[in-house]
Amino acid sequence: MMPVAIIGAGIAGLACARRLAESGVHAVLFDKARGVGGRVATRRAEGLQFDHGAQYVTARDREFATLLGTLEKQGAVGAWQDGGGPGRWVGVPGMSALPKALGVGLDVRLNQTVTALIRQSDCWQLQLAGTTVEAARVIVTVPAPQALSLLGESHPLSAALRSVAMAPCLTLMAATRQGAAPFTVREDPAAPLAWIACNSSKPGRAGGAIETWVAQAGPDFSTEHLEQDPKAIADLMLSLLCEELGVGLDAVTYAAVHRWRYARVTSPLGQPFLRSDDATLFLGGDWCLGARVEAAWTSGIAMAEEWLALR
Ligand SMILES: Cc1cc2nc3c(=O)[nH]c(=O)nc-3n(C[C@H](O)[C@H](O)[C@H](O)COP(=O)(O)OP(=O)(O)OC[C@H]3O[C@@H](n4cnc5c(N)ncnc54)[C@H](O)[C@@H]3O)c2cc1C
Repeated sequence: MMPVAIIGAGIAGLACARRLAESGVHAVLFDKARGVGGRVATRRAEGLQFDHGAQYVTARDREFATLLGTLEKQGAVGAWQDGGGPGRWVGVPGMSALPKALGVGLDVRLNQTVTALIRQSDCWQLQLAGTTVEAARVIVTVPAPQALSLLGESHPLSAALRSVAMAPCLTLMAATRQGAAPFTVREDPAAPLAWIACNSSKPGRAGGAIETWVAQAGPDFSTEHLEQDPKAIADLMLSLLCEELGVGLDAVTYAAVHRWRYARVTSPLGQPFLRSDDATLFLGGDWCLGARVEAAWTSGIAMAEEWLALR
């Protein structure tokens, strides 16, 4: 039996596993995706790349700032000078470089969707496609609504999970022939495209004759259009982007949309994690503290420290 299984290899899961590993505890991470990082992600297509999830990272906590400094020395993160504000760090050459660096040396099992989590008399059973694994303790770091599906409505921690609200985000990735970009970043929470960034203005991105753009719709627009056909969403967002950039559709060489169903927590739990009374189940992630990468990291570290204290 595994001493600890972690569901989700986003920032919270990775932070938790790293802190456990520093104390000699071997955790096994299961993630349904092809790579680590969750919402800290980079999409590659047609020789282009886009940070279609988290745009940048900021550090308020000294320990997290020290970690970013270490990753900068390794070349995995860099300061985004044109990022529209001070202290904005990005993964290099893409945001996914950050979680990849955090995952080095950890036991991560990718393409593994946990479909059910069942309490047995002496362990937790994780159901995966075609197999099951058993773990003495389980740390769940998936978004709160997905954690609720895994645990079931009747679990004692479900009421707390239900109190968390998360908003979707439709994200457009587009490439244009290089022109005079009117800005590198434009933030306007009230606009349908609440965030527009020139992805190719980030450090370490390949330059050239093409500019890449990431545009995120605000929560109202995202909720309204979430279930529409991706092509229709892309067309709609693309026309808004072209208007903002002052270019015609003929300047666009690539466009695609990504639908983040649980993008940002709008009503967080207000504490770093949840724990079952018998201390065999921990639930955490950004949804505990706020819609930031650092919040996910803080939650993951807090769960590891509680786990170690209870050992
Ligand atoms: C569009 C967008 C823009 C953002 N911009 C910023 C920003 O600029 N700055 C910032 O600080 N934050 C930003 N954020 C928020 C930031 O990305 C998150 O706060 C953070 O990445 C959350 O990390 P996490 O580990 O809690 O969750 P996640 O990253 O969601 O990780 C959960 C992991 O669990 C896996 N998983 C889910 N279900 C299962 C299952 N059943 N079985 C196995 N694996 C499963 C997923 O594949 C995922 O890897 C943004 C988010 C989005 C979506």
